[in-house]
Amino acid sequence: MSVFDHSSFAEHEGVHFFSDAQSGLKCIIAVHSTALGPAAGGCRMWAYPDSGAALRDVLRLSEGMSYKNAMAGLDLGGGKAVVIGDPRTMKSPALFRALGRAVESLGGHYYTAEDVGVSTDDMRHVREETRFVAGLTEGAAASGDPSPVTARGIYLGIRTCLRMVFGSEDPAGRTIAVQGIGHVGGHLAQMLAADNARLFITDINADALSSVAAATGAQIVAPDSIYDLPVDVFSPNALGAVVDENTLPRFRTRIIAGGANNQLATRDMGEKLAARGILYAPDYVINGGGIINVAAEIRGAYDPSWVEAKLRKLNASLAEILAEAGETGEATNLIADRLAKARIAARMRA
Ligand code: NAD
Repeated sequence: MSVFDHSSFAEHEGVHFFSDAQSGLKCIIAVHSTALGPAAGGCRMWAYPDSGAALRDVLRLSEGMSYKNAMAGLDLGGGKAVVIGDPRTMKSPALFRALGRAVESLGGHYYTAEDVGVSTDDMRHVREETRFVAGLTEGAAASGDPSPVTARGIYLGIRTCLRMVFGSEDPAGRTIAVQGIGHVGGHLAQMLAADNARLFITDINADALSSVAAATGAQIVAPDSIYDLPVDVFSPNALGAVVDENTLPRFRTRIIAGGANNQLATRDMGEKLAARGILYAPDYVINGGGIINVAAEIRGAYDPSWVEAKLRKLNASLAEILAEAGETGEATNLIADRLAKARIAARMRA
């Protein structure tokens, strides 16, 4: 399996492979950059079809974390861990302890936390072997589930997008389609409903749909119909790659702003959305609330006012990106990439 000539290799500082025969752990930890501080990013557990797919994922995700952390104004670099295996059948305390030993062996170059397929409960076992873990529910600085903070960041970002497009950031009466009403989308729907937005929601989990609909008054739509709704805002909070050649012509929205990671199937989708007159809030900028929450724990003392101040600053950065796109016509995702890389380069020079 090639690494240095891999198409997703982006001058990563380190790519580390770990296995533990006893617990069945097979894991890759990629440290993309430590220019801004120790690398931080969650650990994903997934039934990858092969180790090549896991490598590709961890290379891309860790690079993305460098830019996300830079845009969130955090003294953290970018890293990510992937555990190869089905989280429904392969989890065990021993496996997460082995993961903890792997993280510990990097000596603080990388901090882990929960991500898709991994829970705060699993992280307790990681903590037994290493200090370099956050997103815990217990302990002096525990930050717990980051989703409410991620959702608040997206809520603020949607308001900013509304202001840019409609001149008023008030969601009242605005039509908003929320794709995925899990941890992030569920909280987001509550916040928007409290502002009297007109919500449309979809998910593949029917129980979650009916409870969120009951709590928010949202109208339920089928998963595939959500792309065709004429709405003011489309908010993806489920899967990545929701903007691709197939969905692009279907969107009838003015704004795409949501929490899902890697929303654009390819980078050029940003330009194509702009050409269609759709304002796109770059995913790793608008969804940085979760890592801000985790960073509060890594700092050693959880301070909600520090988190809120960072969220507001992040939202101001989003507004700057959108304003620059308005002036220059450059795609918002490309502006974000440029700014994030410049922040990292400036620190490296310093
Ligand atoms: P989650 O698993 O709690 O929620 C995802 C929801 O999407 C689930 O309810 C699931 O049923 C639904 N879903 C899956 N496939 C779908 C489909 N085809 N159509 C409609 N709905 C579908 O996850 P989450 O923590 O809410 O995260 C949501 C997204 O935000 C993910 O992409 C995640 O990587 C990203 N994100 C989350 C955080 C966080 O703090 N949790 C932070 C940054 C980014």
